[in-house]
Amino acid sequence: MALLPGSSLSEDTFSRIQPLEDRLRFIPTGSKDDGKKPLIREWTKHPGFTVQELQKQFPQAKSVGVITQPLLCFDFDGESAVNHAVLNDRNPDYVNTWRINRTTDPNRFKLLFLPSKVQLAQLHNGQITHSHRTQDATKGRTKEGDDVVIKGEAEEIFCHPGRQVIVAGAHPASGGHYFWPVGYGPEALSAPPKEWWDYVLELDRDYPRPAAGANKTVSTSRFASRDWQRIEHCPICGRGPDDNPLCQLHRDGETLRCFLGQTFSPPTNLEPGELVPGTDWAFSRVSSSGWGEFLTFVKDKPSPLQKLQTWSHRNV
Ligand SMILES: [Zn+2]
Repeated sequence: MALLPGSSLSEDTFSRIQPLEDRLRFIPTGSKDDGKKPLIREWTKHPGFTVQELQKQFPQAKSVGVITQPLLCFDFDGESAVNHAVLNDRNPDYVNTWRINRTTDPNRFKLLFLPSKVQLAQLHNGQITHSHRTQDATKGRTKEGDDVVIKGEAEEIFCHPGRQVIVAGAHPASGGHYFWPVGYGPEALSAPPKEWWDYVLELDRDYPRPAAGANKTVSTSRFASRDWQRIEHCPICGRGPDDNPLCQLHRDGETLRCFLGQTFSPPTNLEPGELVPGTDWAFSRVSSSGWGEFLTFVKDKPSPLQKLQTWSHRNV
């Protein structure tokens, strides 16, 4: 595969995604220092770059991303996530569409679909984002006896302007790169078949939406009530305003729900009451909604004795 100078992306890759440049929103991703991040600000509002613009303006890009609207993405993160879909009559190996695999892990891949206009209109606000955890993160131990966290597994489904997926280039965290299995390149991109779309519609019923007649910015589903506000910058997972803000703060200011995502996620190895390192937020419990899982954290309130100790410490 011939690589372009200074890029991990081949001419062949670019020429194969070019026929989609008018319909999809491609963006440059992956710099030297940061594995997956888009190279432009406010990318959620960007109409997308042509292949020629990507090559000319961003020769340093390590990868190419695409905004997942109008695209629909099924993101399989781990063997248990694949099994979950198979048991749900959605065998990812039996569906022909664009598939993004990774050289370094056969059980972490994405299927991309292009829903029809009729299908998109069936989603509330034409969007959805959902995460189904199929295996919790666990504590493990290396040969040297050090404690490590073994990443959890999940199936994530999204068709959302605030999210993007990488379709080609480097995956720096593993040292590998993305590839399209033969017959499953961008040429195969299709609308989701019935059993896949029916599942999305099932999830859509639980997706937070504005109540009829209510102010459109107030979401009043079971999980997102007026008592909870989405936060632009989550102090626990670092999710920012461009990262599809999902974490929520209660109006009391003392309780925070941090979303368990794949790119942004709170630490999952804490005991109840234990503080997130570098913050004054203490882990409380796991909470679940129809469209994903959160960890709930509460503001740590020092006991009178601790206050006294801090006070005497400062005055020593
Ligand atoms: Zn968070």
